[in-house]
Amino acid sequence: MTIIDGMETEILWRAVGDRDARFDGTFVFAVATTGIFCRPSCKARRPKRENVRFFAATVEAEACGYRPCLRCRPTAADADPVVTAIVTAIREIEEFPEASLDELASTAGLSSYHFQRKFKEIVGISPKRYSEAIKMERFKDEVRSGRDVTTAIYEAGFGSARAIYEKANEALGMTPAAYKKGGKGVSIEFTTVECDLGIMLVARTKRGICSVSFGDDRPDLISSLGAEFPNADIVEDSSGLEAIVRGILDHLAGRSRRLVLPLDLQATAFQLQVWEMLRKIPYGETRSYAEIAEQIGDRRKVRAVARACATNRVALVIPCHRVVASDGRLSGYRWGIERKKKLLERESSGAKTSGR
Ligand SMILES: [Zn+2]
Repeated sequence: MTIIDGMETEILWRAVGDRDARFDGTFVFAVATTGIFCRPSCKARRPKRENVRFFAATVEAEACGYRPCLRCRPTAADADPVVTAIVTAIREIEEFPEASLDELASTAGLSSYHFQRKFKEIVGISPKRYSEAIKMERFKDEVRSGRDVTTAIYEAGFGSARAIYEKANEALGMTPAAYKKGGKGVSIEFTTVECDLGIMLVARTKRGICSVSFGDDRPDLISSLGAEFPNADIVEDSSGLEAIVRGILDHLAGRSRRLVLPLDLQATAFQLQVWEMLRKIPYGETRSYAEIAEQIGDRRKVRAVARACATNRVALVIPCHRVVASDGRLSGYRWGIERKKKLLERESSGAKTSGR
């Protein structure tokens, strides 16, 4: 019996949310409150996530007591063999994230090239990134359940301790050991400074910047830093941050157009992907949420992109202010729309005058 759970359900749930007909026949979703199961593209209203279970086959849903929906007739759905192969591969990675690309492709009956392309098209990220994310999730689970870090590294499928530390770096994340304690033992230094956008707070761990935020009220900014890192030791230290703050202020004043600073952030694979894109938007330019979604390879993810922008914790360093609505409206900004407006005006005039 294959009741699908784990991280792959995020992908299936997204297909349900999008009513993505490509997935019809490859899985069904059953709703506990109605006792009915549907194909992904069913037109019926979407249930709450917590009431939904996923099944690889209709007979399995029926064996669990669910009845097929009369509207979408899930038992009559023909599966696209390629999508089915990819969904099977997703499940395979979930169980065995160490599997190589060639192994996965050959189980799917596709060439490595075709497999990789199709996987990316359907899942949104490459099989390699997906299996890294699975390993990272697994590692976190192991650690949460009380396993020591070294054992957890191997249990999660990382070949060596070095591999995960490299990944953690790449993921702009806290080190595995720091993760175990929920940020406990991580010391964070911060400082605040007045600038023409109000008060700016800059905070960092030993590894990099973990927060850059703007506000009108210093105590407010400090208490939201504390709320974001409830277990960290947070101390004020302006001298250690002097050079960084100066760099940010220079950038803010238009004296330097690139702002490259080491970061220490906790993020999902998707947030990372979006943030990487944001860092590539040149000074003085903007992109729409839709354009970013398209660059990531899935134009339907506009809202998810907007959410990733809204959860950015490091203003300016990850320039989420350079993303606007498709019609050019400024849309939202975590630190206030007025600040976004000011930043964009300044950057566009700065880009013109210095555009030699
Ligand atoms: Zn239905």
